[in-house]
Amino acid sequence: MTERPRHILSLSGGKDSTALAIFMRGRVPEMEYVFCDTNKELPETYDYLNQVEAYLGKKIIRIEAVRGFDHWLTLFQGYLPSVQARWCTTFLKLKPFETYVGDNPVINYVGIRADEDRDARISHKPNIQVVYPFKEAGIDYAGVQKILAESGIGFPPYTKWGRSRSGCYFCFFQKSIEWVRLLETHPHLFDLAQEYEDKSQDIKGGHFQWNDDMPLRELRNPESVEKIKQRYEEHKNRRWETRPNKKLVETLTDLEDAEDDTRACTICHL
Ligand code: SF4
Repeated sequence: MTERPRHILSLSGGKDSTALAIFMRGRVPEMEYVFCDTNKELPETYDYLNQVEAYLGKKIIRIEAVRGFDHWLTLFQGYLPSVQARWCTTFLKLKPFETYVGDNPVINYVGIRADEDRDARISHKPNIQVVYPFKEAGIDYAGVQKILAESGIGFPPYTKWGRSRSGCYFCFFQKSIEWVRLLETHPHLFDLAQEYEDKSQDIKGGHFQWNDDMPLRELRNPESVEKIKQRYEEHKNRRWETRPNKKLVETLTDLEDAEDDTRACTICHL
């Protein structure tokens, strides 16, 4: 007898995976909703997931790595993860997900939209078959907006203060303006991120920083904050001029920027 596959939908705390979970509600009763928790996510993400869980009427399984970020950081001799060395995704998201999935057949639901063209499979394990319900149903960005609005869940709450992505509070995919907003919204988290960076100063071979533009110690200075804000406003205005038909919403501009960045990981940010 052929084994029946499990159905797994992984949420990141981002808008697309959330909209997909809402879209799939009731369609696959045995669906397992999962979230790979680094324990370094934004508080808003945890709140949002609780809200989604209540809406789905089903538990979102929190998958945690056996060993957390600090363990791996020590193992990597204090080298902070980066776009080029994304060990955090591997050890805190991907491997725990693959362990949870196991070796039996699985159908994995991924929230890539109809207006996107990218390979966004979470894992390449041969027992995982990836499906893209939004692509099949022709649901694009506007469709996702509609699903989120009609459910009453809305966009992830961190987008209200201008963070474009889900993921760890110190995620290196953040743009400088997002670091400024983190500083203003969650100064304590900014301090923690800076602590990691400060500690990396002692590493042989140079120190490491989360943000390519400048270290957080420098970024938090009022002059830097002012400059970053000014640069962001100029950038926003340029986009406004080149896209006159688009409604000018600050968070949307950031979301668009994030979407342009195809380097980001599906499991962390979708
Ligand atoms: S959200 Fe960013 S820092 Fe966190 S695991 Fe993913 S890539 Fe790494």
